[in-house]
Amino acid sequence: MKFLGDYHTHTVASDGHSTLEQNVAAATKAGLEEIVVSDHGFKSILANMTSKNFEKQQAFINAEKSIRVLQGIESNILNPEGDIDTPDEYIRRLDVLTVGFHRYVKPKFMFSKFIFVNGFCSTRAKRALVDANTFAYVNALSRYPIDIVAHLNHKAPVNARPIFDKAKETGAYVELNAKHLDAFLPLVKDAIESGVNFIVSSDAHRANDIGQFEEIEKFIKENNIPLERVFGIEGNKPTFKDKTDWRGEK
Ligand SMILES: [Zn+2]
Ligand SMILES: [Zn+2]
Repeated sequence: MKFLGDYHTHTVASDGHSTLEQNVAAATKAGLEEIVVSDHGFKSILANMTSKNFEKQQAFINAEKSIRVLQGIESNILNPEGDIDTPDEYIRRLDVLTVGFHRYVKPKFMFSKFIFVNGFCSTRAKRALVDANTFAYVNALSRYPIDIVAHLNHKAPVNARPIFDKAKETGAYVELNAKHLDAFLPLVKDAIESGVNFIVSSDAHRANDIGQFEEIEKFIKENNIPLERVFGIEGNKPTFKDKTDWRGEK
């Protein structure tokens, strides 16, 4: 299987250990044509996106000519209403808008029941939040021009089918995330049945992990995921929503 790109990568701008420059070199070495830089959102703790880092990444991307680098942000999903932590003016400037659940967000959000129970409590306590988690993703997909749903079912359990249906309707990809294939395994049958499209990603936090897709290739084969619905492989280059004219939430 030939892979075209890696659609979820981190740098030192959030909790990654490599610079964007090192990531680009690793991607080139791995034979990829494109990568998405998708550092964590503005409300993450310690590893949050800042306007300064965003501008730095944009400047790097504009100057980079060896491979295609797409500007993304892995936005945090904050509550059952589906609020995310990337302001509208930044969404309009993104090539790729990714959303995912993470527990380490600013205290105002972290100590809400939604983040705290999902992120830190027992599996049983989390299960009580399945409906809220499901609404959170469905609402976010309805409200924002989301391109990629990251590592679904990691930390926050969901009723996956309505999310896949909404993702299909809105044209969002769901991730085959090399780091979280275990979390995705119980959902894969529903995903295939729903008709949603998949995208490949390493979620690399080190340059060396970029484009390391052996486990994903195995996962695709073992679960009979239709190749024509896997994006980021030869013959299937993903496209992302033009957000320039997105009018925003308010
Ligand atoms: Zn993540
Ligand atoms: Zn990530």
